[in-house]
Amino acid sequence: MLPFIDLKAQYKLLEPQIRQRIEQVLEHGNYIMGPEVKELEARLAEFVGTRHVISCSSGTDALLMPLMALGVGPGDAVFTTPFTFIATAEVISLLGATPVFVDIDPVTFNIDPNKLDQALRDFHAPASEHPYPRSAAHDRARLTPKAVIPVDLFGLPCDYGRINAIAARHGVKVIEDAAQGFGGEYRGHKAGSLAWCGCTSFFPAKPLGCYGDGGAIFTDSDELKAQLESIRVHGKGSDKYDNIRVGMNGRLDTIQAAILLPKLAVFAQEVAKRLEVANRYGRGLSDLAPGLRAPSTPEGYLSSWAQYSLLAGNEAARERIMSGLKQAGVPTAVYYPKPLHLQTAYAGLGYRQGDMPVSEDCARRIFSLPMHPYIEAADQERIITAVRALA
Ligand SMILES: *Cc1c(COP(=O)(O)O)cnc(C)c1O
Repeated sequence: MLPFIDLKAQYKLLEPQIRQRIEQVLEHGNYIMGPEVKELEARLAEFVGTRHVISCSSGTDALLMPLMALGVGPGDAVFTTPFTFIATAEVISLLGATPVFVDIDPVTFNIDPNKLDQALRDFHAPASEHPYPRSAAHDRARLTPKAVIPVDLFGLPCDYGRINAIAARHGVKVIEDAAQGFGGEYRGHKAGSLAWCGCTSFFPAKPLGCYGDGGAIFTDSDELKAQLESIRVHGKGSDKYDNIRVGMNGRLDTIQAAILLPKLAVFAQEVAKRLEVANRYGRGLSDLAPGLRAPSTPEGYLSSWAQYSLLAGNEAARERIMSGLKQAGVPTAVYYPKPLHLQTAYAGLGYRQGDMPVSEDCARRIFSLPMHPYIEAADQERIITAVRALA
């Protein structure tokens, strides 16, 4: 079986630098907020192009902390996509706010700006085509829209030109979930820098991963930076035992920062390699549409190719192709088999099957092929041949 993601190939390449960096942390012993954390934040700021970077404990906490800074809580509505990892919506619910789902674009798999505009425009209208939460506990008449969390799914940034304009018109903040999009670009700007703030994850399998949990928040706002630095350390004020707000333990470990530094140094090359891999898949598979649709990147965008996801003609075809590939030694995965509005955890919102038809259709047909910067061309040809034989 080929690997779906090959973290060992990268480790072989960077082993001396990573070991040396870890060794240095063990020598100086500043395990919490040591010098590597500051160094990493400076390098990340250069890479992404924002004035501030606040590293933190995970991608989930990277999303949670700006919502806390905004004071989001019960009575607030936060708009997001149902076609994402649960963490994106979970942080909204953790604060007692209501997630309002907006269906995706069928080509990019990202939140549809037209539907977002409608969902915000009609939010307090008595009737709307938009499917809002139906339960009395989440009655939109009593909710205030506060923020939008678009997700750069599979590595492709969302249409922030339109999303930021729509959000500004409705007075809500945009928080970019760049957990998968890190390394991608939109109109020459790096993912993470495309909204009021951007959030990423350093979970091992993400485009830039550490060897545990980690994350970061990117922003140009001095005010948000100060709030996030306080929230990250239990709501500290002038010192650790002066607590001016309710915060959390949201720090990134020094050892994880040390591991990320040599990985960040080669990250731009790795994104370029991912693009080569995606282009090779594209050349080998893009003529199979509509039976099997390969992903495409719109003009003005660069994907970091966190995943290479194809759409089969229907659910049965997907099952057939996936099990055929397994027999041929090619692993696949489904991101995501169930959209968030239909998850048991969100039954309390009162959404129904059919509310988000595009997400529901993609959930039945989508699957992902092995994708990492170190796939050998011969292995990739083997994958392409196997897919073509099954399509
Ligand atoms: C992975 C992921 C997260 C959460 O990141 P963690 O570091 O695992 O907490 C959030 N949003 C998206 C879209 C993700 O893929």
